Amino acid sequence: MAFVMRSVDYLIVGSGLFGSVFAYHAKRAGKRCLLIEKRPYLGGNVYCEKVEGINVHKYGAHIFHTSNKAVWDFVNQFVEFNRYTNSPVANYKGRLYNLPFNMNTFYQMWGITTPEEAMQKIEEQKRVAREDLTEEPCNLEEQALQLVGSDIYETLIKGYTEKQWGRPCSELPAFIIRRLPLRFVFDNNYFNDIYQGIPIGGYNKLINALLEGIETREDTDFFEHREEFLSLAKTLVYTGPIDEFYDYRFGRLQYRTVRFEQEVLDVPNFQGNAVVNYTDREVPYTRIIEHKHFECFGQAVYDNTKTVISREYSVEFSDGMEPYYPVNDEKNTALYNQYKALADQEQNVYFGGRLAEYKYYDMAPTIERAMSLAKELGIIS
Ligand code: FAD
Ligand code: UDP
Repeated sequence: MAFVMRSVDYLIVGSGLFGSVFAYHAKRAGKRCLLIEKRPYLGGNVYCEKVEGINVHKYGAHIFHTSNKAVWDFVNQFVEFNRYTNSPVANYKGRLYNLPFNMNTFYQMWGITTPEEAMQKIEEQKRVAREDLTEEPCNLEEQALQLVGSDIYETLIKGYTEKQWGRPCSELPAFIIRRLPLRFVFDNNYFNDIYQGIPIGGYNKLINALLEGIETREDTDFFEHREEFLSLAKTLVYTGPIDEFYDYRFGRLQYRTVRFEQEVLDVPNFQGNAVVNYTDREVPYTRIIEHKHFECFGQAVYDNTKTVISREYSVEFSDGMEPYYPVNDEKNTALYNQYKALADQEQNVYFGGRLAEYKYYDMAPTIERAMSLAKELGIIS
């Protein structure tokens, strides 16, 4: 092996939030750590790249949100958060609607102005839908019709969801749509959490602060030097794909992925909002992100005469692509459980995070998971 290294207490594979938070706690407890990362930079999916002075969320838009005060206080030790509140706008055939579904949306959809009128309208539409439907919604289409009725379903849900998941709404599980808030107040905040924001200066600042003083090796793939690495470490914390760890012996886990088409534009303000969803079928992308709006507000948007946008295309995962969203359907869950059974038998190897646990964790729950592993291993009390 090209490295000459001393032995360590913890070898941590992967520099995403799971690996970085775990490494931080281990180092604080006086443990010797080595963290390796196969990409040329640290941070996993929260990594940002500076383009034209703007922090571009290279692996997709990341908005930090949590109701867990301990997690919020933890991240705020390292970096201050700005006041960004996610409030996406939907564009359906050129008409704009506020999200999530709230009084602004109902006004834009039906011209109604009071909560009572909105409730009546939705009830009317639900009644019509109920006549054709079974009691318990058995797919996303039925669930959406029963929650919000046909106008909102046809305008804001059907096209977007079918593009995003690559399958008809009638073949998707009902629970996916229950994540979206439905509110009878004028409130465009996409999340219900108490705390929300973007790190001032970008996510790299948070990662660099977590990893300060920790030995890291970028451009280093664990599997290229597996035996040598294992011989160095008492304990391994692994945050890569679990099926790869076991050489895909039971088969490959599936993911849904996104292709980003990034463009620098010679205008200061392209769409006036960080996130615009395109909810009709005809537009091939699901949404456009304009990155400067995560960190610049009001007139400050015009301080930079350029802007960076990313169009997001939802695609099926194949080899060589970035694994983004685990497909937690029956088949993949069964396969994951086979790998998990092997993982449970390991001595001194711990699996954590989105890829190793094959679970769609948001950032805050990832941090919670890394902290609980640190507790389990007696690193923090
Ligand atoms: P990762 O960030 O994926 O880190 C794993 C790291 O391990 C990677 O850097 C990888 O290169 C490295 N690695 C893998 N295999 C090896 C190997 N063999 N050797 C060395 N290194 C290896 N969460 C939110 O809270 N809000 C959001 O708005 C949000 N938006 C998202 C948008 C998208 C498109 C996606 C995909 C996720 C989003 N998330 C969001 C979720 C967030 O990205 C995750 O919660 C977080 O990144 C999980 O961290 P992790 O450490 O588990 O994984
Ligand atoms: N969704 C939709 N229209 C939108 C935004 C979301 O129909 O404009 C649906 C879509 O099915 C999506 C689900 O709501 O999968 C949950 O949305 P969220 O933004 O939480 O999805 P994520 O991109 O985080 O998976």
